[in-house]
Amino acid sequence: MRLIGLTGGIGTGKTTVSNYLSKNYQFPIWDADIYAREAVQPGSSILEDIIVRYGKNIVLPNGNLDRQKLGEIVFNNRDELHWLNKQIHPYVRDRFEQNIQDFIIKNSEYGQENSIQITSHQTTSQNPTAVLVIPLLFEAKMTDLVTEIWVIYAPLQKQIERLIKRDSLSLEEAYTRINNQMSLEEKCQQADIILNNSSNLEILWQQVDSAIAYQQNN
Ligand code: ATP
Repeated sequence: MRLIGLTGGIGTGKTTVSNYLSKNYQFPIWDADIYAREAVQPGSSILEDIIVRYGKNIVLPNGNLDRQKLGEIVFNNRDELHWLNKQIHPYVRDRFEQNIQDFIIKNSEYGQENSIQITSHQTTSQNPTAVLVIPLLFEAKMTDLVTEIWVIYAPLQKQIERLIKRDSLSLEEAYTRINNQMSLEEKCQQADIILNNSSNLEILWQQVDSAIAYQQNN
């Protein structure tokens, strides 16, 4: 079983690569950002704790968390970011662990019942693969959840350009968000596979295809 932990710096291309893996390999994609949003749904105990800490104004009139306001607090104060992560990460970890359990069960049943029918993506079927997109894979100490670590690298300049374009951030906001994470170089040092996303998408796809094939054969 392959559990690919896909990480990298902010805006380096995690969503871009996970969409490609989903579309072209049909791997299930489990995304920490989605679970982190789930964790703070209206009525959740984590949202209640956030309201106690930051006041009622941290929610919008419709009851949803005001993510922009929260972002302004935590991206300008490391202690608050640490506190918030401590609330959310255990929930995210639980969701991944549950998915992994289900995936193991499903594939053991599937393997026994359907061993002859498998024709397309044979290598994939022989070695069931799922992708865990975890921006804070190292910071949140979730490396034990995965069997291989892929880090997507992009030069700082490209990261900033793409963030400003995608999220309409100012230069300063883009820098602040990047600087709140472990350095990309440090992440690359701990990678099994580094995808260099400093050029165009065709070149990125080639690297992804090679990484899938390489690990499959090793
Ligand atoms: P975040 O950390 O914010 O979740 P991410 O790592 O998921 O970001 P993406 O959203 O995949 O990053 O990419 C950031 C932006 O850069 C997107 O708008 C994406 O379309 C664009 N992008 C990614 N790779 C390339 C590329 N090789 N060439 C041009 N644009 C790219």
